[in-house]
Amino acid sequence: MIPPAFLHKGLLNVRIVMKFGGTSVAGLDRIRNAAQRVKAEVDAGNQVAVVVSAMAGVTNQLVGWCQELSPMFDAREYDAVVATGEQVTAGLTAIALQTLGVDARSWQGWQVAVETDGQHSKARIQGIDGEELLSRMAQGQVPVMAGFQGIGPDNRITTLGRGGSDTSAVALAAALKAERCDIYTDVDGVYTTDPRIVPGARKLNKITYEEMLELASVGAKVLQTRSVELAMKERVRVQVLSSFQDLPGTMVVDEEEIVEQEIVAGIAYSRDEAKITVRRVPDRPGIAAAIFGPLSDAHINVDMIVQNVSADGTTDMTFTVGKTDFLRAQAVLEEAKKEIGYAEITADQDVSKISVVGVGMRSHAGVAGTMFKTLADEGINIQVISTSEIKVSVLVAAKYTELAVRALHTAYRLDA
Ligand code: ADP
Ligand code: ASP
Ligand code: MG
Repeated sequence: MIPPAFLHKGLLNVRIVMKFGGTSVAGLDRIRNAAQRVKAEVDAGNQVAVVVSAMAGVTNQLVGWCQELSPMFDAREYDAVVATGEQVTAGLTAIALQTLGVDARSWQGWQVAVETDGQHSKARIQGIDGEELLSRMAQGQVPVMAGFQGIGPDNRITTLGRGGSDTSAVALAAALKAERCDIYTDVDGVYTTDPRIVPGARKLNKITYEEMLELASVGAKVLQTRSVELAMKERVRVQVLSSFQDLPGTMVVDEEEIVEQEIVAGIAYSRDEAKITVRRVPDRPGIAAAIFGPLSDAHINVDMIVQNVSADGTTDMTFTVGKTDFLRAQAVLEEAKKEIGYAEITADQDVSKISVVGVGMRSHAGVAGTMFKTLADEGINIQVISTSEIKVSVLVAAKYTELAVRALHTAYRLDA
């Protein structure tokens, strides 16, 4: 018998959104387990809307097929392909719920409708019409919405970028004015770092929106960045919890709700970026615009940037882009070679970005210093550095990822 998650919070008869990630719906037994959890909330008197991801591994396979046919695939067709994973699990979850005697039906993004902009493969939700779902929920029906997908202005299926079902869930919670958005996953909360890399990582009972946003944006996959951004803006209460264990999860909250604020909240890593160096570009005003303008026109996000000082009137510009944009970025730069006037491009995909995040950095000096010293002591060379108000990131060789994360976790005294 699964207890409803409200027991941890003492709230009854509320409207909630329950999102189940890929591992939580990875097979029929897992889908049955998710359905049991939904039933527990329904039996407790709550109105529930469900959002599901594709079964674990399915989206990767679908993406792989598109890339195999053409690395420069048409993003509209990519969306048509990769959105299918969620359609399957939405239908199966509705069937599993019906089997348990719960009135349920599946909804695809376009049926709701989840309206997005036209940026295929990384679309942003612009609005969700919740009326129809609300009236059905009031009558006891459980809508099961396919996450990750929506409909664009061109009337075609869009997807929200990898991990996008989190964003679907938060956006739906906002549209339904839900009391909470529970994100069920394969870990029982947000940890000081990925518990799969550092077994001694500590679970956080609460984390601020800001820190969660920063951690997500630098690679902590547990929530998609955009979902945290949206939760912060729309004041959605997000809880991350396990679909396999009955444990209280991590609440994402305002800074005032945290009494004892640590200087460093967590460490994240990302292997999703690649490094590009444009060599021997003329060191003149406008050169950054000449390089990054065409990339931005092609909707390629650039993350870390360093420009070397020059002696002979030319300079090297190094930056990172997402690995999924890597080939396109090179093609764009190739095309703009004349205007930019560089000698050559070198690239490295074997890199990893390691980041330290904490709101305490605003008032405490020395966080970056500790990071650099710790990495130096381990013999790890830093290739690029970038900082924000509450974050320091470094780019290192990918083979040092685990070592760097573990050493930093210990250095900031985060070990459990
Ligand atoms: P889902 O399929 O449920 O969306 P994800 O794989 O997207 O799950 O996200 C959960 C994973 O995020 C965990 O299995 C864990 O390896 C990883 N992760 C990375 N950083 C953290 C962190 N700080 N706390 C918890 N999990 C993390
Ligand atoms: N299935 C999609 C992905 O793997 C969306 C998600 O799981 O959130 O990226
Ligand atoms: Mg996810």
